[in-house]
Amino acid sequence: MTEPDLTATIDLSAIAHNVGVLRDASGVDVLAVVKADAYGHGAVPVARTVLASGAVGLGVARMTEALALREAGIDAPITAWLHTGATDFAAGIDAGIDIAVSSQRQLDAVVAAARVSGRTAIVSIKVDTGLRRSGVAVEEWSDFTDAAAKALADNTIELRSMMTHLARGDEPDDPLNSAQAAELDAAVADFARIGIRPHSVHVANSPAALTRPDLSRDLVRPGIAVYGRSPIPRLGDFGLIPAMEVSAQVALVKRVRAGEGVSYGHEWIARRDSLIAVIPAGYADGVPRAMSGKLRVGVNGRIFDAVGRVCMDQFVIDLGPDGGGVVEGDRAVLFGSGADGGPTALDWAEATGTIDYEIVSGIGARVVRRYI
Ligand code: PLP
Repeated sequence: MTEPDLTATIDLSAIAHNVGVLRDASGVDVLAVVKADAYGHGAVPVARTVLASGAVGLGVARMTEALALREAGIDAPITAWLHTGATDFAAGIDAGIDIAVSSQRQLDAVVAAARVSGRTAIVSIKVDTGLRRSGVAVEEWSDFTDAAAKALADNTIELRSMMTHLARGDEPDDPLNSAQAAELDAAVADFARIGIRPHSVHVANSPAALTRPDLSRDLVRPGIAVYGRSPIPRLGDFGLIPAMEVSAQVALVKRVRAGEGVSYGHEWIARRDSLIAVIPAGYADGVPRAMSGKLRVGVNGRIFDAVGRVCMDQFVIDLGPDGGGVVEGDRAVLFGSGADGGPTALDWAEATGTIDYEIVSGIGARVVRRYI
């Protein structure tokens, strides 16, 4: 098959390798986070790969994401942890999704749906130990445990896990990390006193899985590192292999004369007669408009600067007076592993004041995912 003209090539062997790195570093099993279409890498192929590589479960934010994985035939444990009044708990219970609840209201809604369906709901408890985002709040804890104990006693729910999410996982030495884990341990101990034990306890996201094995409980719950991106770039790559390369076919090569402006607003003016090339990827595809004037792309092993504004569907690169040997149909690498000094997603993140989580998960739907 010929390669589509705008592609995110996903190296599934890199993802398999990264699951192994995470297991070795943390010393425990991996529940791989595949929310947001596996951070832009494609939820179903990534889910199959991580499970074949030994991951024991999958994590997503929304119930719709969990149900889509089930519909694709994935029967592994799936935990979904971000719910609203519109979440279809009945469908989740039917599909055997582990529903991580963050409040007694959510627990009550799951219990009500389980009673209607006559099936036991699989439930995890997300405890807010300091992030102050989702999770059962401390002041709710005692009423929550009473309600959970009742639902467990009559088998309306079964307790899969107790989990928490770190606020400063990417600052490994921050005392808050240990304090959050200790607070979860205390919540687990509260349940143990009334004879209830979750099947598993988990705390660590990618940075903690790689740097704080002492916080590993039964599982770790990494996302970004599964995709080969360092969760703490200043500490190196941890032996992870980036799984995504975005590339596009050169659409057009043409001449501009010295003094002519290129792209909207003519922010770039050619200083000399030059060849330029049109690259068919723009901000609708996840190339930030804020990268205008900062983008570099690799073509045939050479790096060229993008010039002028990034548009919705395209941007332009300067090939210089001799055209650099680039012809229409050549492949331009927008970002990849960074080998040989090529551009990376982290370059884009640093140039635009964000993190590479946002760059890879923002790669748009027009970019065809291709698996190798
Ligand atoms: N656990 C929860 C609850 C999350 O929301 C996320 C992602 O934000 C993760 C784990 C994975 O985090 P990371 O991608 O930093 O490993």
